[in-house]
Amino acid sequence: MFATSIAGSLPKPEWLAETQKLWPQWKAEGEALRQAKADATLLWIKAQEDAGLDIIGDGEQARQHFVHGFLEQVEGIDFENKVKMGIRNNRYDAMVPQVVSKLRLKGRVHAMEAQLLRAHTTRKIKFTLPGPMTIVDTVADRFYGEGEEGRIKMAMAFAELLNQEALALQADGVDIIQFDEPAFNVYMEEAADWGVKALERAAQGLTCTTAVHICYGYGIQANVDWKNTLGEEWRQYEKIFPALAKSSIDQVSLECMHSHVPMDLIALLKGKDVMVGVIDVASDTIETPQEVADTIGKALQFVAKDKLFPCTNCGLAPMSREVALKKLEALAKGAALARERV
Ligand code: ZN
Repeated sequence: MFATSIAGSLPKPEWLAETQKLWPQWKAEGEALRQAKADATLLWIKAQEDAGLDIIGDGEQARQHFVHGFLEQVEGIDFENKVKMGIRNNRYDAMVPQVVSKLRLKGRVHAMEAQLLRAHTTRKIKFTLPGPMTIVDTVADRFYGEGEEGRIKMAMAFAELLNQEALALQADGVDIIQFDEPAFNVYMEEAADWGVKALERAAQGLTCTTAVHICYGYGIQANVDWKNTLGEEWRQYEKIFPALAKSSIDQVSLECMHSHVPMDLIALLKGKDVMVGVIDVASDTIETPQEVADTIGKALQFVAKDKLFPCTNCGLAPMSREVALKKLEALAKGAALARERV
């Protein structure tokens, strides 16, 4: 009951990459970089185990960014000539690579980290991939054409590639494959219309547990400012949860801690496992086990106890290592307290 996990990313050590940045520069290159990524992955496997988490991730130590890490292994993308683009409905600007021709995987994307993770923990493991709709929102297009039709075509093309990698990750021994779709909270109608279909295409044929993570983003200033415009009640989930409830995806990850999401929206996910965000990633204040257990208690009004999985609201990548470690401990201790209470 209440098996804990992180949403996905963890801070990179300062010897691996620049710290507290969303697109950090690596500190090494070539073979030294490959080794440093592997070392950082091992470090975080141990730290998650020591903190007492039940489901372990790679902390996304081997990718610069949760979307572009995948794109680097895709043929048909020009990384040399990045362009500035407003992403998440122009919430903030990012330098993004461009799709210039038919898309194809160059080879495996995450074999190294996934195999390392499987070899070094006996606990369940979760692996994250960006969702097709969020990829489409984080890359410039010079190939698939203008408008909605082009976006759908490109999303389906990425979904096929994601599916190839997901099937390979399953063969590596991954127990849970999670697709990150923050874009679902921004383009709610498109998400319900075709985003969920693209997601199902990415998960096609998987027999391991499948999950989708939908959040209000990392704790960066642009996101904090955006959240301040969303009003008293954040009801974005209301528009997409019914489509997800009908989908083939097993688990849905959402943010609850310090967010203005009405808890009763969880009831729209009837039948699904729910990863309840009980750790705030936009604040350095460490949650107490009581606060975590209280949030779990509130969510239990709307989801059965065997379907509730405590999680972080989002990734911890831009935080300090020290804060992230304490937040992992708070998550595990809070879940333990919630188990006692139930
Ligand atoms: Zn997130």
